[in-house]
Amino acid sequence: MEERAPNGDRIELLEHLPQEYEAVVGPALSQVGQPAYRARQVARWIYDRYASSFDEMTDLPTDLRPLLERQFSASPLEMAYQARSRDGTIKHLWRLHDGEQIESVLIPTADRVTLCLSSQAGCALACRFCATGDFGFRRHLSAAEIVAQFRDSELVARHAFGRGIANVVYMGMGEPLANLEAVLTSLSVLHGGFGFGARRITVSTVGLIPGIRALAERPEPFRLAVSLHAPEHALRERLVPVEKRYPLPELFSALREYQEIKGRRITFEYTMIDGVNDSDELAHSLADLLNDLDGFVNLIPYNPIPGHDFAPSAPERIASFSAVLQERGVEAAVRRPRGRDIAAACGQLRLEREDPGN
Ligand code: SAH
Repeated sequence: MEERAPNGDRIELLEHLPQEYEAVVGPALSQVGQPAYRARQVARWIYDRYASSFDEMTDLPTDLRPLLERQFSASPLEMAYQARSRDGTIKHLWRLHDGEQIESVLIPTADRVTLCLSSQAGCALACRFCATGDFGFRRHLSAAEIVAQFRDSELVARHAFGRGIANVVYMGMGEPLANLEAVLTSLSVLHGGFGFGARRITVSTVGLIPGIRALAERPEPFRLAVSLHAPEHALRERLVPVEKRYPLPELFSALREYQEIKGRRITFEYTMIDGVNDSDELAHSLADLLNDLDGFVNLIPYNPIPGHDFAPSAPERIASFSAVLQERGVEAAVRRPRGRDIAAACGQLRLEREDPGN
């Protein structure tokens, strides 16, 4: 694959709202005697027509296009690899300007396509059962790198599935609320630039309280998911080390506040690990914990990752756990793993740097 020049000092267009384009692109335009309305043309190409280069912007003067291309970028990602699962799931490995690599996954169901995107290269939080956690932290993604996963995936989805992305979930590599500023900007651009509905965007967190508060302050109805995995402190600390910093009682008081402000249901993710967090007793503690919240629990069978001796809970165990929740009035659903054959399922996203073809 051809070597890619580093982004240098180019301004990333995908981290700016359309209404900012006049201020962002305007100075470069006036320098070459071009009218300011061209900035709006550029914004339309980027957000209405999903352009990623100035070459595509055929209503701009031919000699203006390379001038802008030198100063502005709308393509922070290069597709390094694409894998297609037997179940239709498509995983992308993206190479960033500095050589870092991240993954995102398109998950088609009968009636809609969901995009699972990354917010960091690697992750610092070291959850015991997560491949990204094993891998460690490389760096934060910029807002443009987050948004570009959507833009580039949308074009693939239209082509591969004949329909665009219906839902975006921040459940790929990284902890979105540890990269708060870039993630908040990316939400603004997805919603305010591409016009993607806020209710169709879910930010998933391991429970970073300051970030939950920041999301609560946003006026748009973005959805929140919390990766819980255990309803009790000692067990959760073992699985999710950040429990030490943001223990359950504090997390849940932040969540209750969030719910008061937003009036929105919160999703909880619970990875079912055989003999670790899947007893009926723990299902009862979970129900106690969720008692005064409007919550929905996604039970995700643990996806085995290399080098760990955890195993997924048996289907009957998951059914029993789920039955306890239902009896106790807590809504729950069991999630089917998707894209396992291409290591695209929950928690498996982890680039193989030496050989991305694997
Ligand atoms: N850091 C964020 C988002 C990334 S993880 C968060 O923790 O929510 C997305 C979801 O996949 C999380 O709920 C995570 O706990 C879950 N997950 C991670 N590893 C997994 C595995 N091996 N099997 C099943 N689910 C896993």
